[in-house]
Parts: sequence; structure tokens; C-alpha cells
Amino acid sequence: MANSQAVVVGGGICGLVAALLLKRRFTNVVLIEQAETVGGLFCSVKDSSGAAYDMGSHIPNATGIEELDKILFSDADSGSWNKISRLRSGNFFGGSWDLNSPFPDATKLPKETYLSGCGELINCTELPDTDLIYDYCVDSLGVVFTESIVLPILEKLYGKDAPLKELTMAAGLFGFTRILALPADVTANLKQLPAFDAKLGYQRESDFQKRKAQDNLSEVTYYYPTKGEGIGYWVTQLQQQVEQAGVEIITSERVTQIVHHNNKVTNLMLANTERVLKCDFLFWSAPPFIALRAMGLTPSRGQVTLRTALIFHLNFDRPLLDRNSHYLWVWDPDSAIFRLTLYPNLIGRSTHHHISAEILCGPDEVSSFTEAEIIKQLKEMGIVDSEAKLVSGHTQVINNTFPVPTTEFQAVNQQNYETLTNCVDNVVVSGRFSGKCWRQAEVLIEAYESIMRVADAS
Ligand SMILES: Cc1cc2nc3c(=O)[nH]c(=O)nc-3n(C[C@H](O)[C@H](O)[C@H](O)COP(=O)(O)OP(=O)(O)OC[C@H]3O[C@@H](n4cnc5c(N)ncnc54)[C@H](O)[C@@H]3O)c2cc1C
Repeated sequence: MANSQAVVVGGGICGLVAALLLKRRFTNVVLIEQAETVGGLFCSVKDSSGAAYDMGSHIPNATGIEELDKILFSDADSGSWNKISRLRSGNFFGGSWDLNSPFPDATKLPKETYLSGCGELINCTELPDTDLIYDYCVDSLGVVFTESIVLPILEKLYGKDAPLKELTMAAGLFGFTRILALPADVTANLKQLPAFDAKLGYQRESDFQKRKAQDNLSEVTYYYPTKGEGIGYWVTQLQQQVEQAGVEIITSERVTQIVHHNNKVTNLMLANTERVLKCDFLFWSAPPFIALRAMGLTPSRGQVTLRTALIFHLNFDRPLLDRNSHYLWVWDPDSAIFRLTLYPNLIGRSTHHHISAEILCGPDEVSSFTEAEIIKQLKEMGIVDSEAKLVSGHTQVINNTFPVPTTEFQAVNQQNYETLTNCVDNVVVSGRFSGKCWRQAEVLIEAYESIMRVADAS
């Protein structure tokens, strides 16, 4: 289309990549971001010693789509990235570490609980057919393991006041629908059956590799920047590409009105500059209810709770004791920490000994956690040397970041998504707020495929 203009709203990684792809198809592309900088959840901070930490998402992986991966990791061979073919993870459960698997090990439960749980688990032979985490786990793991392993984890992540038995798999974030429970050989054999594959984790890397070969699964490469800038480096690279392609990026700005006629968006009005943008195609990666309001429509409303992420970024004077794991889960209910990121292991080498400990909590609970208590826990867990001293650090509080995935949350999302996409034809609603995808690679693949569909149709 001659002199056509696409507008992208939301400058997270979804919006940045969409802007680049759209610039190959539209004459002009304008990207509107409400924050001062682009990048969304992929964002890093530095402490007073120059150690860089990440704020939200941080270990991106290639998507397997050539056009997309060339954009994402255009400098993949420049030495700027540590390419990781297998993410090394472990978990703290039942008072000890298992550094070979992210999944909680049921054998650490009291013997009677473990044995009765195994009896149930073996008898659940069908793949569950439900969207609710609790029901799914009951149908897959049985009541005993669900109550003794899964429910405490749900409570730790989403809070004791959340309707824990009514949470949906919508944001299938943490993978705790799998556990370890049976001997390695038995597990490897049972995992040939879909229902057991869905609930048991491999215990030996060799079994996992054998299975990958059997199923012809392609290798996934994860990337982490080596230059000491944290994952913020990725966003800088993408932003440069977007700017070089001629996309206009407007930050600290939002859309106040979306004009639409005959099922087509025609113009957008901006709040601060009061500019009116022509819009032949709208790529929306912000929450859909904001678009509905700007169109003069009433969005669906409901009780939606968002958790606060409290992140303790810590840099010590001694190397971390775990020199192998990239990240670790803490499933024990006794600790409020749910995830640790070990940067020296991600970078491959580092001048700093830095780690992030993440907590999800209610906004009013933030003050009940202290840096001193977190450091004490990390020492007790054997991640930080008991003699280590804190050199520098930074504590981040990110409010309203993690949705509690209630059925109501899912229904509100779905309804707003549908109202918006049914109302106008020249809009794509994508990104994590669309409710269609969550993890970074899924988000980008979904955005790519949406744009390809539009390109094919026009
Ligand atoms: C705390 C957290 C941790 C996560 N960790 C991981 C992980 O480790 N691995 C993984 O694969 N996935 C993770 N995810 C999933 C995450 O959804 C994706 O990785 C991905 O970052 C989503 O990109 P996005 O661009 O859709 O959203 P975002 O990164 O949230 O970007 C949306 C952008 O839109 C902007 N915006 C919002 N409203 C407006 C408006 N009205 N006008 C203009 N701009 C607006 C925001 O400021 C933001 O920049 C995590 C999610 C959360 C919440």
C-alpha cells in the first residue's frame, strides 16, 4: 500500500520485533511506548559496583523461525552472547537441593505420604482434561501429591488469599505440574505413556537426551549477554535495529483516542504531544482494555489481582557456591524466595559474584522481607559462602506485575480480546497481555505468525 502507516502500541520485546517486521511491509511504522524506555519486562539495572541484574524475563531462546531469529540474535556470533544449549536448573524442596532437576522430589515427603501418593499417581492413567491447575494436578498426580506439593507452591506464589483451587493454567509459568516420584528407570519407561510423560520429570540427563533423539526434537539455544550489561543488552540491540530500519519510536506517550469507521481503525490520538496519527494497521501489545476505552467502548471488568515482584539483587565478595546452575527454583514453603538467578554461570565468567532472589507478594507485604534475612537464607541454603560479605546490591519492587491466574482473570482477558478483535479488522492484538501466549518465545512466534497472516491476506 503506497504511503501506508502501521502503529505499534507497547514497546516490550513483542512490540519491538513487530515494528521491525511491519517496517518490511508498511512505508511508515510508529511505535508508542508509555514508559521512558522500551524493552518492557526485559530490562536490567546496575548496582554501585557496576554489577548488572535483570528485572523480569531474562534468558531468551531462539524461536526456530529463521527470519525471526536473525532479528533476535543478529550478532549471535560476535562473542557478545553466551550460547547455552541446556539450561541448568535445580530446586530446593524438603530442606535440600536437587541440582539435577527443576521438579520437586516427592521422595522427600514423609514416608507414609510418599507411599500413599505413589499409589494414587500410578492409578491416574489418563491425561487430564481441565484448565484448572488444582483439578489438573489431582487428575494427574492424585490428591496426596497435589495437596502436599502443589498447593503449598501455589500459595507461596499467589498468596494465601487467592482462590488456589480455582487458578487456571492460563499463564502456564512454572512447570510444577511435573514432579519426581519414582526410580529413574521406571520413570524413563513410564514416560513413554502420555499421561506419565505429563506428570513425571526425567531424573537422568541421558534419559532426557535419548527421548529427544527418539522424538526428533530440535535443539533449543538460549542466549545470555557476555558484556556485563545484563539482558538490557538485547533490548539495546533490538532498539538499534528498529531505529536503523526507520521506525519512529515515541516513549513516555500513550494513546487517548482510537478513531474507527466501518470496522477499521483510521487514526490514533496521542496524549502528550496531542499528535494525530494516521493508522492503516494497528499492532496492539498493551492490555486490550486500554484500547477498548480509547475506542469509546466499555471493557469487561472483573476482580483481577496482580502480585508484586520483590527482587533482591546481591553482589558478594566471594564466588557463589553453586558454579553450575543458571537458575534455581525454591519450592520449600519455608522460604519466600521462589527463584534465584546466578549471573556468573549465565555469563560464563564474571568479575562479579552476583545473584537475584525473587519473591512474589502482595503490595502490603513488601516491608516484611529484609535483605539481611534473604542473605541469611542464601547462606543457610549453601548458595552463598557463610563468610561472604555483601559488596553491593539493589532491591527492586515492581508492583502489578504478575497476574493471579483466576478463572475471572482469564474470562475478562478473553472477553476484552474478543471485543477488540471483533470490532475492528485492521488490528492484531498480541504479546503477553493478549492472553494467547506468555513465555518469550511463544510471544514472539505468535506475533510473527499474526503479522504473516496479515501480510498474506493483503
Ligand atoms: C515478572 C515476569 C517474569 C517473567 N519471566 C519470564 C521468563 O523468565 N521467561 C519467559 O519466557 N517469559 C517470562 N515472562 C513472560 C513474559 O510475558 C514474556 O517473556 C515477554 O517479555 C512478554 O513481552 P511483551 O512485549 O508481550 O510484554 P511486556 O514486556 O510487558 O511489554 C509490554 C510493553 O507495553 C507497554 N505498555 C503497556 N501499556 C501501554 C500503553 N497503554 N501504551 C503504551 N505502552 C504500553 C509497557 O510499558 C511495556 O513496555 C515473565 C513475565 C513476568 C510478568
